[in-house]
Amino acid sequence: MAISIKSPKEISLMMKSCEISARALEFAGSIIRPGISTWEIDKALGEFIKSRGARPSFKGLYGFPGNACFSINDELIHGIPAKRRILKSGDIVSIDVGAFKSGFHGDNTRTFAVGGFDAIPENAQRLLEATEQSLYEGIKKAIPGNRVGDISNAIQTHIVSRGYFVPTDYFGHGIGKELHEDPNVPNSGKTGRGPRLTAGMTIAIEPMVTETTDKTHILSDDWTVVEANGGLCAHFEHTVLITAGEPLIMTKLC
Ligand code: MG
Repeated sequence: MAISIKSPKEISLMMKSCEISARALEFAGSIIRPGISTWEIDKALGEFIKSRGARPSFKGLYGFPGNACFSINDELIHGIPAKRRILKSGDIVSIDVGAFKSGFHGDNTRTFAVGGFDAIPENAQRLLEATEQSLYEGIKKAIPGNRVGDISNAIQTHIVSRGYFVPTDYFGHGIGKELHEDPNVPNSGKTGRGPRLTAGMTIAIEPMVTETTDKTHILSDDWTVVEANGGLCAHFEHTVLITAGEPLIMTKLC
């Protein structure tokens, strides 16, 4: 599939989907507390997104059962919300949520500290800070003339410098009419490699970072990806528009 270049009209529609996605993630963060189940947050998220005339992008995608993905502690991505999966103070939880409206998707992720940032262990605090910063290091490279590998390399360089790992099996992606479009946007790679970036491309940049090894495996639910040693995982994501100038973070709230 060719990389789609969005028209100004398409970009303005997609901005709305991205804003709903960002508001949904903000809303999820606002209701996280020790003792709440991921099922309860997921249900509220679904209602939030529908109340804004959108639908949750992940619901039913490849058969995924939730409105959003909830990945706790050693879970990297694709955790399934459930009543028995109850958050406790000191946990970290990545919530990956997308919204589809008027033909376009938005997609974003954040790893939250349950009980507040001071409630999580110091190693978790450092992992969250490094992963979020690596997202912005990647976004800085999302400019016309650069290649996808420049983004990948910036993320990898930052993460490796902090002593963490980037599993190579999971990527960011182009996004638009489909949640997952070309190109793949890996979290590791070489500068100057991969597709060239041009204005009008929209991509989801999403470092998925592990604490002690780049090896992962998938649980018997066939969805949840976990760190192979049981170390912590973090995940931050924004949907980004390549413009003639600076990259525009479409899922950033003003
Ligand atoms: Mg994504």
